[in-house]
This record gives sequence, C-alpha cells and structure tokens, in this order.
Amino acid sequence: RATDEQSPVVTVLERIRDEVAPRHEGRVADFIPELAGADPDAFGIAAVSAHGRCYSAGDDAAAFTVQSMSKPFVYAMAIEERGLDDVHQHVGAEPSGEPFNAISLDELGRPENPMINAGAIVTTSLVHGAGPDGRFERIRTALSSFAGRSLSLDEDVYLSEAETGHRNRALGYLSLAGGVLEGSVEEAVQDYFRQCALSVTVLDLAVMAATLASGGVNPVTGERVVSRRTARHTLSVMSSCGMYDRAGEWALRVGIPAKSGVSGGILAAAPGSFGVGVFSPPLDGAGNSVRGVAALERLSEDYDLHMLRIP
Ligand code: GLN
Repeated sequence: RATDEQSPVVTVLERIRDEVAPRHEGRVADFIPELAGADPDAFGIAAVSAHGRCYSAGDDAAAFTVQSMSKPFVYAMAIEERGLDDVHQHVGAEPSGEPFNAISLDELGRPENPMINAGAIVTTSLVHGAGPDGRFERIRTALSSFAGRSLSLDEDVYLSEAETGHRNRALGYLSLAGGVLEGSVEEAVQDYFRQCALSVTVLDLAVMAATLASGGVNPVTGERVVSRRTARHTLSVMSSCGMYDRAGEWALRVGIPAKSGVSGGILAAAPGSFGVGVFSPPLDGAGNSVRGVAALERLSEDYDLHMLRIP
C-alpha cells in the first residue's frame, strides 16, 4: 500500500505523535508472557480515507498482535453466516461496565456482549469451519480481506497465551454451561487465541477500520468484505462496548466507534470518512493504550469527528 508522505494529513499525525510521546504512564501487558517484551516507547499511527488513501507517522512498520481488535471482525463474520438474531441468542449487546476478562453471563446465560473475552469466545464458536483448523483459516482469511493483505500468525504469542490462558478457558466453560457456546470449548478457545495472535501494523488496523467505516467495502482493494448492514451492526457494538469499562467515557470524549487490544493497539472507524490505527504498548487500568487514547481524543477534538457532531 502506498502511503502519501507529502499530505497535510501526515503533518497532523506527526504533530499528534509529538504531543503524546511524552506520556509515560501505563504498563505494558504481561499476563500473556510473550507480550511483556514490547517496546514501551514505540508509537505508530495511520489513517486510511474512505477513498483508500493511506497516511502514517511514527513506527508504522512495527508488527504487533491484533488481540481484542480481532473481536469486531469475527463478530461481523458470525452475523454474515448466521444472521443478527441467531448470533444474539448466544451473546448479548449490552455494555458490561466491567473489565475485558470479566466473568460475564446475563440472565439468559449469554455473555454480555461480543467485545469482551467471554462473548468473543462464544462468537468464535459460532463461526462455521470444517474442523478447528478450517475455522481458524476462515477467520484468518476474513481478517486478511478486511486488512487487504494476507495476515499471518505470531506463533510465539499464540503458544504463550495457549499455555497461560486458563481464565479464558473458564469463561468458555461458563458459556457452555449457559448453553450458548457451540461445539468444543477447547477448540473455540484455541481458535480465539489464534485470532488474537494474528500479526498486524497500524496501517492494517487503519484499513480494517476504514473497511467498516466504508460500509463493508475495503477502500484500498475495492473488495466487498461484509454487507453494509453487517458493517453498521459491528460499528454499533464497537461504539457501545468497544472500550470495555471505559466505553461511556470514550463516547463522551472521542465519540468514534473503536476497539482496543492489550497489545496496545486501538482501531477507530469514523463512518463514511476514514479508519485510524494507533499503537503504543503501555496500557491504562482498563487495558487501553494510554497514548492511543490520548491520540484519538486529540484527533476527535481538533477535527470535530464525534459521531454526534451537530451540523
Ligand atoms: N488475547 C487476550 C485475552 O484474551 C485479548 C485481550 C485484549 O486484547 N483485551 O486475554
């Protein structure tokens, strides 16, 4: 993908990078041991317009794992395959107001929403696929279509989480007991770990977000990845649940549908205009990138990007 290096958009992104660089609060995630070695000073930001123009600043070539930012895309796949109502018989659509790894089951036995781990593991279990490898391969292919290039698995991060992710296994068993997880818990959890360990850059995140922002058509490749309705459903759930227990604060201060991941990435999709990807490993108490949140607050504020913008 060619990035436009002369554009004023790049000047904006560089200014934002310079503004947030001095922030040194937050901690790099270490509950997945393999993530602990991430460079706390790394910072990259990219934007992709609805016309497919790409802009970036900072460490735009740094690779990191997509982690929870895979959740909206697997949710979109499940909707495409089974329809919205079927999916929501298995998982709710309410902000949990709780951390990403919360033990979450509503009165119907469903995890609160598909953006927290419990709900995402259920969503993964709903995706079709012949055998466990078949399903992961379908997920990898779909996320690659959103990104517009073939994404590959970071084997070390996957194995590291597969060895230590017992809480996620427990969440899977709770959903099985609630009657909402389909098939085998271990297979669903393994595929969830693998989808989380797909390797991306900020440009990938920006293209993935821009594909949702463009109603399901990848603006760089021109491929229709999901329907317009599915893209809207996905953006809706991102806007209410994408930032875990900071979703309300995010709606107030940023107002752009977004999803964060513990690797320190955030992707944000401004409907009809563009997608943004940002990466900086140190996380705040909710598991959201400190500099990533600051950068998106800045961008929203300076350019009046709140989705409830009053014309
Ligand atoms: N793979 C991580 C987990 O399941 C993803 C969590 C996240 O990015 N918030 O714990």
